[in-house]
This record gives sequence, C-alpha cells and structure tokens, in this order.
Amino acid sequence: MPGQPRWRQVRQVSANLEETLGIGVAEALCHSPRELLGERLCDRLQAALGDRERLPAALTTRIRVKGRERHLHVVAYRSGSRLVVELEPLARPDERRLLALVNEWLVQVGEIDDEERLLQALTRMVQRLTGHERVMVYRFDEQWNGRVTAEHRLPPAESFLGHHFPASDIPAQVRRLYDINRVRSIPDAAAAPIPLVPATDPHDPAPLDLSRGALRAVSPIHQEYLRNMGVGASLSIAMHDEGRLWGLLACHGLGPTPLSAADRDAARALVQIALPRLMLIRARAEARLLQSIHDSRDLLAGERGLLLDPGEMVTRHGQQWLDLLRAAGVALVQEGHVHGVGRHPDERRLRAMATWLGRHQRHDMPWATQALGETPLAEWQDGDLCGLLAAPLPTDERRPAWLMLFRHEQREARRWAGKPEDVPMERDGRLIMTPRRSFAQWQEEVAGRSPAWGAMERRAAGDLAEDLAVLASGHQIHRLNVQLSQVNEQLQSLAFSDSLTGSWNRYRMEQAIDAALNAAERYGHPCAVLLFDVDHFKQFNDTHGHEAGDRVLVEITRALQTTLRESDILGRWGGEEFMVLASHCDGQGALPLAERLRRCVEGVELGKLGRVTISIGVAGWHPGDTRKRLVARADEAMYRAKQNGRNRVEQAAESAAQA
Ligand code: GH3
Ligand code: MG
Ligand code: MG
Repeated sequence: MPGQPRWRQVRQVSANLEETLGIGVAEALCHSPRELLGERLCDRLQAALGDRERLPAALTTRIRVKGRERHLHVVAYRSGSRLVVELEPLARPDERRLLALVNEWLVQVGEIDDEERLLQALTRMVQRLTGHERVMVYRFDEQWNGRVTAEHRLPPAESFLGHHFPASDIPAQVRRLYDINRVRSIPDAAAAPIPLVPATDPHDPAPLDLSRGALRAVSPIHQEYLRNMGVGASLSIAMHDEGRLWGLLACHGLGPTPLSAADRDAARALVQIALPRLMLIRARAEARLLQSIHDSRDLLAGERGLLLDPGEMVTRHGQQWLDLLRAAGVALVQEGHVHGVGRHPDERRLRAMATWLGRHQRHDMPWATQALGETPLAEWQDGDLCGLLAAPLPTDERRPAWLMLFRHEQREARRWAGKPEDVPMERDGRLIMTPRRSFAQWQEEVAGRSPAWGAMERRAAGDLAEDLAVLASGHQIHRLNVQLSQVNEQLQSLAFSDSLTGSWNRYRMEQAIDAALNAAERYGHPCAVLLFDVDHFKQFNDTHGHEAGDRVLVEITRALQTTLRESDILGRWGGEEFMVLASHCDGQGALPLAERLRRCVEGVELGKLGRVTISIGVAGWHPGDTRKRLVARADEAMYRAKQNGRNRVEQAAESAAQA
C-alpha cells in the first residue's frame, strides 16, 4: 500500500486486497490512503511512525467490511519514497491464552541454569504455541554452517537433532535479512505468490523493498528447498547476541500451518525472553572460567616473590591450566628454552612453531587453530595433537616467547542433512545456486580437528601469557641484579685491592692511614707505618725474569700476611714497595714488628730462585702529623736502611718529624 510522504496516492495494492478490505483493486487505486484506510487509522499510523523507517510495534484496528466488523494487524515501513502498509486479518486473538503462555515461560526461564535445557524448553514452548511439527534451535559455526542443537517435534516429523546444514543453505544475503527483519513466517510454502497491481509503480520504477515486512512471497528457490525437505510451512526467528546473528529458532510444519500475526509476535516474544537468560548463563560459565584462571593467576602472583623463572612456573602450574583450558599439553618456548607439561610436540618442533609464529603472527593476541594440519605449521604437528592455542608473551619484540596449549583430535561423525556439495551447480559454465534435493542423512567423518578454542579460553591463555611475561621480566631483572652486584663487588675489590698480590692497594692504604691519624689525634691512639722495599729487585728480575719477580711478590705477601696481627694492615705501595700500618703502637713499639717482617721475608724459600730480602723504614705518629709527613719520614728511614747495607730496619729520626 504505497503512499507519498503526504500520503496523497495509493500507488500499488496486492491483488487479494478485496479479501481483506472488501474493496476491489481498481477502485482502491482511485482512492487516497485516507479514503481507503480511514482517517483514524491514518492518524495513528502517522503519529506512531513519525520519521522512523518502520512502525516500532504493530497496531491493531477494527474496520467494517461488507457490514461486518473485522480486526486487522497493521505493520508499516518505508521503501524509498513510498510507505508500505501491511494489513493482516486477525482472528480475535485469544489474549488470555497468549498471556498465560508468556507468563508460564517467564517463570520457567528464570529457573533454568543450563544453556542446553533452556534451548530445549524454548523449542517445546514454541511448539505448543504455533503447532509446527518440528521446532529446532539451529546454531551457526564460524563458517556459518548450521547445526541443530535443540529440537521438539511431533510424530511423524523425523528428527533433525544433531544435523548439520551447509552454510549455503542460508546464504549471506538471507542472513543479512535476519538483521533487518528478525522473523520470517511462511504459513504455506506451496502458496502461489500474490502479485502487486500494477506490478511496478508508474511514479517510481525502483522495485518495492518488502524485506521489512511479514507478508511477502517465497522465492521459488526457497520454495523448492522447503518442498525437498518435506516442509509445508516454516517460521524462523533470528537469535542475536550483541547484534551478531548466532542462531535461528526454526519451525517446520509438515503441511500448511496458518499462523496468526498475534501468535507470530508471541513466538518472537518467547525467543526474546529466552535470549537475555541465555546470555546470562553463558556469561556465568565464562565468568567461572575466568575466575578459575584468576585464582591461578593469583597463585602465580603470590609466587612472584620466589623469583622462579617462568619455565618453573609452567612445570608447577601447567597441570592446573590443562584442566581449566581442557588441553592435553602446555609448553612455554622462550629464548630457545622449552618447558612443558602433558602432551606436546618435541623441543625441535616447538621451537620451529615458535619461530614461525614470531615471524607471521601478531604479538599482541593469541593465535588458535583446531586443525594444525591445515596451517603452515602442519609439518611440525605431532600425531593427533592438532589443536593449538598459542599466546605470545608480551616481552621483547625481537625474541618473542610463546605459551602454547595443545588439544587432541576429536573425531566426529557429522550428520549432514544431505550432501553439502549438492548445492552449487554448474550450468552453462556458470556456478549457480539450486535448492538442495537430497535431505537424506549423510554422514561425514570429520578428522584432524580438535574441539574449538572458545573466546574465553583464548582470553584466559592471553592473560596467563601476560602473567608469565611479568614473571619473566621480574626474573630477568632479578638475574641482572645478581650479575650487577657481582660485578659491583669485583669493581669494588678492584678499586681497593692490588690485582697481583690481593693485598690492599695504595689508595686504600692511604685511606687507612688517614683513619688511623684521625683516631690518633682524637683519642691519642698511636700508630706507625713500616715502609719496605725489596732489595736489588731489578737484578732479580734481570736474572730470573719479570714473571718470576711477580711470583716472588705474591709469595712474600702471603708469608707476611701470616705474620701480621689482625690490627696490622699490609698494602702494596707501588712496584716492589710495600707498607704495613700498625695500629696501637708507636715508632718504638713497631721496631720488633719490623724485625719480624724482615726475618719473615728472608726466610721465604723460593726454591731455585734463592731468597730475597727487604729494607724497612719505620716511622711512628707524632701529634699534628699529616699522612704525607708520616710517610716521608718512613721513606727517609728506608733510604737509610738501603744505604746502611740493606736487609735491615731503620727508625725515622725525631728531626724528620719537625721537617
Ligand atoms: P734497591 O731497591 O735494593 O735499591 O734495588 P732495586 O733493584 O730493587 O732498585 P729499585 O727499587 O730502584 O728498582 C725497582 C725494580 O723493581 C724495578 C723493577 O724492575 C722491579 N719491579 C718493580 N715493580 C715490579 C713488579 O711489579 N714486578 C716485578 N717483577 N718487578 C718489579
Ligand atoms: Mg723500589
Ligand atoms: Mg728495590
């Protein structure tokens, strides 16, 4: 019933208009819409429609046809410049029956906590309402193949439960229709189409778009399809989840099955009521999985303090992850290292897979397959482990690490309702769609595929990988810290000790002298320095070689260390010159120590090299001493020891203190 924006003219009517309105087609085309439908209905339509594309809800109205009152169900929507008004005679709806049914369903739905049972109950309820012999829930997989997952039927309708339908049965353009119009009712699949009069709108040659309406003819292909399936009537209602079509509620009548507009709306209401519950049940199941994963993550977090490496984490917790994610094995491949639990390919294959994934897959989201054999990773598949869920650890881009979960093949006997390849046919060299003729059961053995990885499972694996990455970096930082502190220790000892003899170096000796002078000034604790030099060492080197000379320096250092008290410190002053800082004794008191040192060196057996001797200068602290002065006095005394014949001890002269 097309009209202009201001509803001036009736442009086309359906050929059976008289059955509904009691007015002939020719007469109707001479009327304005207001004359044809009455002022009241037109006002209501205009008010309800506003500038919408379609009426938000159907209206019901009464009109007098040939002296008798008639109820009509009215739907309206726009098609380009035209407005389409659908009028359906309405047997006085048994509102009490519908309301009771919907109420019963509301109560039932609230008590069901299981997806399968809910869908099963939905099919039973819809069957009661519509009387179709077979009511099914039909679910799409990722390739848009359908599978019947719930069914309620009356004999003699045969069961389609578990049957698969190829994606071509409901092609993309039909699926898009379900996004626009969620209900498709075909009360009589064999009914001849009722034409529009005139066939095209003389003012607007664009074909009328009837996809938003309920009253439209069935395409010949679909008619044939239904006939081949032995179906005389059908009703399908789209099931969406957040705007995405995931299934259909499909009803089949074996023969024509009239369905009033009210029952059709009620069937849709039953589905609408079930959907949020279904989403809730799914969300709960997902939440349970996530909770378990989070518990496992908490466990990981709790162990962060232990600084276990991620490989150890896999070994400790892998089994738990396998249970949660229904996997046969898990492996972590990180910088060429492999840690795994359960069944997984060997290290060589795992490494090859990780390399491929690192090169070809995104590093910010998990990658999954049910059929490794159909991917470039096929050559590394191990036996029947054909399901892989690989989550990248967000670590170093250049050295990607992967957490991989494996699933076994699950062989499945798929019952197709007819061979899927029956559908497209070549005719005159072109591939054309023809309706399927065979709905006889046909079984396909599906091999090489594991159960699918669910969205939640992918997310959970991603979360785990993220945790492992945190652990990995924590562990790496820990490792670096350990290395760093080792290096620091080395640096420190390098800074303070002599690399040849291991005794303190000059820098540290100077610090020690300063500290001793400080203590002497403050508390009056005396101290003394003993400076000594190896006698004729140049000659020794010339005779035995520099390396032998080095060994001698090491030997005498070791010998002297054993002679010293704990409070006396030995350091290398430079070359073959050494110093002992003696605390708690003055110059005089240090003389016996110096003598002990001299004899100690003299006594060191150097085998073939013979022996070496030292000359020692001793200087005791005087109040007001600086390090420089104290050492200078010791140096002067040592010089005298050399001059006086070497291998002897000399004490600094008192006068040097004043110098
Ligand atoms: P004297 O001290 O008895 O007067 O004679 P000397 O031959 O020891 O003379 P001087 O102290 O001037 O010479 C120092 C020599 O010690 C020069 C160098 O060959 C040697 N020397 C210094 N440091 C080292 C060292 O680290 N290793 C070795 N092998 N020799 C060293
Ligand atoms: Mg010297
Ligand atoms: Mg010397």
